[in-house]
Amino acid sequence: MATLSNSLHLNHGLSLGCRQSSFLSPPTASTSFGFTSFRRRFVSASASFDNDNREYVIVGGGNAAGYAARSFVEHGMADGRLCIVTKEPHAPYERPALTKAYLFPLDKKPARLPGFHTCVGSGGERQTPDWYKEKGIEMIYEDPVTSIDIEKQTLTTNSGKLLKYGSLIVATGCTTSRFPEKIGGNLPGVHYIRDIADADSLISSLEKAKKVVVIGGGYIGMEVAAAAVGWKLDTTIIFPENHLLQRLFTPSLARRYEELYKENGVKFLTGVSIKNLEAGPDGHVAALKLEDGSTIEADTVVVGIGAKPAVSPFEHVGLNTTVGGIQVDGLFRTNIPGIFAIGDVAAFPLKIYDRIARVEHVDHARRSAQHCVKALLSAQTHTYDYLPYFYSRVFEYEGSPRKVWWQFFGDNVGETVEIGNFDPKIATFWIDSGKLKGVLLESGSAEEFQLLPALARSQPSIDKTKLQKASSVEEALEIAKAALQVKQAV
Ligand SMILES: Cc1cc2nc3c(=O)[nH]c(=O)nc-3n(C[C@H](O)[C@H](O)[C@H](O)COP(=O)(O)OP(=O)(O)OC[C@H]3O[C@@H](n4cnc5c(N)ncnc54)[C@H](O)[C@@H]3O)c2cc1C
Repeated sequence: MATLSNSLHLNHGLSLGCRQSSFLSPPTASTSFGFTSFRRRFVSASASFDNDNREYVIVGGGNAAGYAARSFVEHGMADGRLCIVTKEPHAPYERPALTKAYLFPLDKKPARLPGFHTCVGSGGERQTPDWYKEKGIEMIYEDPVTSIDIEKQTLTTNSGKLLKYGSLIVATGCTTSRFPEKIGGNLPGVHYIRDIADADSLISSLEKAKKVVVIGGGYIGMEVAAAAVGWKLDTTIIFPENHLLQRLFTPSLARRYEELYKENGVKFLTGVSIKNLEAGPDGHVAALKLEDGSTIEADTVVVGIGAKPAVSPFEHVGLNTTVGGIQVDGLFRTNIPGIFAIGDVAAFPLKIYDRIARVEHVDHARRSAQHCVKALLSAQTHTYDYLPYFYSRVFEYEGSPRKVWWQFFGDNVGETVEIGNFDPKIATFWIDSGKLKGVLLESGSAEEFQLLPALARSQPSIDKTKLQKASSVEEALEIAKAALQVKQAV
């Protein structure tokens, strides 16, 4: 019997395959890629694509594809040369909105397209479907790629199109982990969120819902539970771990957030496993049966138990997928010349911690896309050097008693020092072998948030006892800043 605890141990939230103590995927035996100098074997620049030869093809139309398209435009290499093939009926959009502003109650100005097309998330031009037309980028919508022929450099789509490519960028993201059908994972009223269609389906349930149960204590679970509060629904969040966001939050930090959710009426069931989801007489989900024999009523269930890299149809064709995603080097080149992978699906060398990682986070989707396209189109050879960054924001709808926004930079390893009372500020510092490795800050000022990446990247030596004695978040950040200045002066 698949239990919730089993599923959650696979991964959930925004990054994959984490060690229990760390937020990022563990090092794997990194294969030596042995890249020979890459030269495109096929080039065509037909502006109208009337000969079906595409110079550059991106498979997947999500966050990474949107930012890659912008980079192609910036390099003057999009017009008549770039084609994006996507499963969705929409041009690339900022996916994180789906569990945030998209789920605002309908009378509280929820986000809708075209409001959140890429690249609004980074302050760029909004790339509507017309933007792609104007830039001469061919978009093939609702037609997923189903197979690839590496030798012939062709892709076949679900509708039977045969696309020849010169260079290929795989940007297929992840697919949501689901409960098996035999335990009720596909019952009407059971929701998963990956795309707009999923979010629309959830909204139509929320409009009628009375009792919502959110399964999973990661980002998705936390964000959806906060959204359900906005809809004034009876909301319960359940997960097998002892506390929220166990991969990142310390127990003490999680307790602060849990208290806030409870003040907003959310009920918690922790350390429990699901046996199955049960249907009522109308076939719609009506209850969850737990492993301990108890039952919880629910008319709407949202499952947020993680995601898997969308490697199909790129498995078994010679690409290295043994690491869980598609393995690339620091320029996002796979082991097959002319094929690249970016975003959630790419397993890349995380230089700063000397390990291979896959990061399911929009910041990495943006940066990996830009880095890959620049390397592909220019003489850039410096390797990707990513600093892990995670954020979430909840309770942001109009009328919410308190908006919550935290950011984390670095690695969550070693001992922790927590400063602040969550009133609203709080900060957690991770210190390993006397060095500051990671920082999380809630409700900081713009200036304070800006300090975090510099701290996490520099990893200055820090006096833990002095930090512990700080009487406020501001004072603790000043101590960290002074440690950074000492390191920079050396
Ligand atoms: C609900 C939700 C909330 C999130 N919140 C946050 C957040 O708060 N902060 C954050 O940093 N990150 C967040 N993320 C993660 C972030 O959205 C992803 O890291 C980011 O979207 C990855 O970009 P990508 O382009 O690699 O994948 P995606 O954006 O998932 O795009 C992949 C695209 O490829 C398409 N596709 C898949 N297979 C095929 C195929 N065979 N042929 C053609 N098309 C295909 C998919 O349909 C999709 O359109 C969230 C994700 C979700 C689902």
